[in-house]
Amino acid sequence: MPSLRLANLIDGRLQAPRQDRWLDVFEPASGEVFAHCPDSSADDVEAAVAAAHAAAPAWAATPSEQRARLLQRLADLVEARLDAFAALESRDSGKPLSLARSLDIPRAVSNLRYFAAAIVPWSSESHAMELGAINYTLRQPLGVVGCISPWNLPLYLFTWKIAPALAAGNAVVAKPSEITPCTAALLGELSIEAGFPPGVLNIVQGRGPSVGQALVEHAQVKAISFTGSTRTGAQIAAAAAPRFKKLSLELGGKNPAIVFADADLSEANLDTIVRSGFANQGEICLCGSRLLVQRSIYDDFRARYLARVRALRVGDPRDASSDLGALVSREHFEKVMGCIEQARAEGGQVLCGGESLALPGPLAGGWYVAPTVVEGLAPEAATNQHEIFGPVVSLIPFDDEDEALAIANGTGYGLAASLWTADLSRAHRFGARLDVGIVWINCWLLRDLRTPFGGTRQSGVGREGGVEALRFFTEPKNICIRY
Ligand code: NAD
Repeated sequence: MPSLRLANLIDGRLQAPRQDRWLDVFEPASGEVFAHCPDSSADDVEAAVAAAHAAAPAWAATPSEQRARLLQRLADLVEARLDAFAALESRDSGKPLSLARSLDIPRAVSNLRYFAAAIVPWSSESHAMELGAINYTLRQPLGVVGCISPWNLPLYLFTWKIAPALAAGNAVVAKPSEITPCTAALLGELSIEAGFPPGVLNIVQGRGPSVGQALVEHAQVKAISFTGSTRTGAQIAAAAAPRFKKLSLELGGKNPAIVFADADLSEANLDTIVRSGFANQGEICLCGSRLLVQRSIYDDFRARYLARVRALRVGDPRDASSDLGALVSREHFEKVMGCIEQARAEGGQVLCGGESLALPGPLAGGWYVAPTVVEGLAPEAATNQHEIFGPVVSLIPFDDEDEALAIANGTGYGLAASLWTADLSRAHRFGARLDVGIVWINCWLLRDLRTPFGGTRQSGVGREGGVEALRFFTEPKNICIRY
């Protein structure tokens, strides 16, 4: 019998779904069901939006110091249970426990703390006119906002959205991914303990086409902050357009890592380049899945890179020696294996990996894929164009800067890029010409919460992070007063 039965959080109370329907939640490491999550309906969304709508005016009028205190209290409660959260996140998503403990949960705590701190000095602008008038701009909360998050960094991205939304004075209805619902449910329970007023934070669990869509279509939900696939982002944009909703869309990527011949390829930098492709089984939107290498160093680089990739250990996510755990679901596992088959079919050579792995004993049913490197595919090949979102990296040689730039910018996506070069001028020049939202030079995944985060083209619309998130979750109103 599954031990865990999750609940919705609506109006400050943990509730079963109104229609008493439930979804199986799988442990990717074993393929077994370990929890049940509400398969909520539009009725649950309706109740959550009504509760949020009722709570919104008082929350907006609550002093920002008080809102910040509650967010800090919630951060304290999560931090005090870091091990429990990390274990649950790893069990739910298949990611290594060590990663959940070092990245996902600490970052969720930081998200809560950062926006708690950021809201207090957040103030309005004023502009004196020579005509004897002053303009001032109020930044007012929107009212009820919807936050929809994906499965790959469950609590990390859930808090990345709800923290600025709540800090700015909005009431929130949030929907975590139905594939990884557990840590958001635990956070919801702790929000009651932290003392958030009923209705300020509501969490409705369930599927995208039912819960997510009802949230997007609801007339009282003023804005949607969404992170997920480009396909779902397009559906949300279409549903939101006739309702003129504010939208922030953080979508997929096909990120290039570009290695120039002059790069410092120290052991540490090579490790980072490997990590940038395979961290979290490649299930990070910022992972570099196209590795562009200057032809003059291609053979040497490939040998050193492959030796490292072959040494990566795929195993039990709870085992500290596992570099990669399991892919998040059977469906995603089948998709990734299909992409590897496609790479072969379009003429790619699989240099390492390329197969699924069967672990012994109780983990035999888990969804494990060996870290895979392919080469020999044209930049236009499907493998080099479509997001795989798994442990698959494609090596692509290039001759000069112009060619590297054309390949790097030559997909529909524009989320992130990492550039490896010792030439400072090139770093600036190339960085400015990349059509992406985030560029790392001689590093990867260094994230400062004050910086704008988001992508161009099919990678999204709008920016989150720092003041960008606070701007998104508020409406500016200009008031002009004559004296
Ligand atoms: P997804 O689009 O399938 O689902 C994301 C969320 O949207 C889930 O909560 C899902 O239930 C919900 N949803 C699905 N259909 C919906 C609909 N019609 N209306 C409203 N909500 C709906 O994405 P996923 O598979 O969970 O996540 C992986 C994707 O997320 C990848 O493409 C990855 O690149 C992207 N991602 C992007 C970023 C970023 O910051 N740009 C970060 C992480 C993940």
